[in-house]
Order: sequence, then structure tokens, then C-alpha cells
Amino acid sequence: MSEADPIAIPAARPERQRKPDWIRVKAPTSVGFAETKAMMRRLNLNTVCEEAACPNIGECWTKKHATVMILGDVCTRACAFCNVKTGMPRQVDALEPQHTADAAAELGLEHIVITSVDRDDLPDGGASQFVKVIEALRRTTPSTTIEILTPDFRNKHERAVEAIVAARPDVYNHNLETVPRLYPTIRPGARYYASLRLLESVKRHDPSIFTKSGVMLGLGEERLEVHQVMDDMRSADIDFLTMGQYLQPTPKHTKVMDFVTPKAFDAYAAIARAKGFLLVASSPLTRSSYHAGDDFARMRGAREAKLARS
Ligand code: SF4
Repeated sequence: MSEADPIAIPAARPERQRKPDWIRVKAPTSVGFAETKAMMRRLNLNTVCEEAACPNIGECWTKKHATVMILGDVCTRACAFCNVKTGMPRQVDALEPQHTADAAAELGLEHIVITSVDRDDLPDGGASQFVKVIEALRRTTPSTTIEILTPDFRNKHERAVEAIVAARPDVYNHNLETVPRLYPTIRPGARYYASLRLLESVKRHDPSIFTKSGVMLGLGEERLEVHQVMDDMRSADIDFLTMGQYLQPTPKHTKVMDFVTPKAFDAYAAIARAKGFLLVASSPLTRSSYHAGDDFARMRGAREAKLARS
């Protein structure tokens, strides 16, 4: 272990889960925050910003950036890191696609991120609802670019991906979340290689769609395991990698093992860039949808520059 190596420096091991200074965020109090919240309730929409207790909600909602969570607010899985409710979901809301499009229009979004709970109870895992949302957005606010963050569609991802890719989102995101060794405890209902294959199949169906994936750090992963995940992602031709600090949403969720320092996040980012990702976002507060619109523009620019060079 060397002092010159920021990733190898032991991060602040949290004895009482106290957050270090670099994690602190302001309480959400702005007018924009209140207006975004009121609109979501009026349109009967859920957001992952609220359900996942995202630390960036004050900043994002002040700017009227919100990530809509479709297919209800009850998930059929029970991942150890996730704050979303678990149980038997309600019926799919037929009005949700148009309400989502209305929200994008009302917020004036240039770029929208749509995610969902896992719906293992549905024959298509909820893929057709993603398609309907994309179609409603294209009709209602055609200039808005669309990023979807999907579940793994366990045992049905081939057909699900085919249907969603045919609707042509601009970015297809699916998070690997953590290193494969930690799947049995952190993401017990999922399979690491199935998630990788899902992302690979997006590119196989339509290479023009950007693919994106992310991991949370601070769950007990080792540095070389993170490097291996980067290599696996590049083998699946994933364009954009996000890395952020895992935060324990409630005491019953899995504990934070390390608060990874901002320097270590920068060091991981440098390694990821060297491995060939078009774009890397890596900081303690990075989340899949954090600054997603700006990042989409940067990713498009990076692809154009790469094509111009080749
Ligand atoms: S980072 Fe994403 S999930 Fe968090 S508040 Fe912003 S838009 Fe919502």
C-alpha cells in the first residue's frame, strides 16, 4: 500500500456510519423543489429521487430535473442496498406513459431519465410499459432525448431488450451495481453475467444507442474487482460508466463498508478512461441520473470526435 496511490489509501472506515464532510448535502427547500414535488403528485407519478432517498434531490429538483420511476412504487425484489418498497405490486397504470410525457413537457426537459421497479410478476417484466412511455414522449415532446434505466428482466431480457430497443431510446442504462462477488448478499435476485449480457444485447440490436452502466462503491469491493468490472463492461462495449458512493438508506439496509475518498473516485475515473469508456462520471455523489442531460451531450460530442478521428 503506497501513499501515492489514492485508491489504496484506506478510506474513512465508518464506525458509526457517520457521513464524512464530502457527502453532506443541503436540505431541499427551494421553490423549484416544491413545484416539482407538487407536479409529480398531481400527475400521480413516482420518482426514484424520492423512493431511493437520493442525496441529490435538493439540487436536481431545484433545477426541475427528476427521474420518473414507472410501473408503480413496489418492487418484486429486495436488494440489500435499495430503499424502494418490496412486495406485491399493484396493476400497471395505463395513464402513466402520457402522464410521464406531460411531466417532461411541463418541466421543459431536454433530456429525461425513466426507470422502474423490478416487475418479475409481469409476463414481459414491464418492457411494454417502457415502450409506451418512449412512444408517448416522442409524440408529446419530440425534442426531448430519452434515457432509460431498466431492471434486468430476469429470464426474459432478450425479448424485452428487443422491444425496447425498437422504440429507440437515446441511452440504455442498466446498472451492474457492484462486483460479482457481492451479488449473493447485495443483489441476490440478480445475476452479474446476465446483466452484462443484457447490455451487450442492446448494442447487438442497435449499435447507435448509447449504453451506460454504474456501480456503487463502499460496499466492501476490492480495487482489482472494480477494475475487472470495468474490463467486463468494456468487453460488452458499454459507453458510459458511473461510479458513486453507496449510502445506507435506513439502518435495516446493508451497512457502508468504506467511505471512498474523492481522490480515490478520481483515480478510478482515470483508470476507467484509460480503459476506453466514452465517458466516465465518478464522485461520491454521482448517481445514474445525476447531470444525465449534460453527460448525454458530452457523450454525443465524444462519439463524434472519435468518429472524426477514425
Ligand atoms: S441524481 Fe437522479 S435520482 Fe438523484 S435526485 Fe437527481 S435525478 Fe433524482
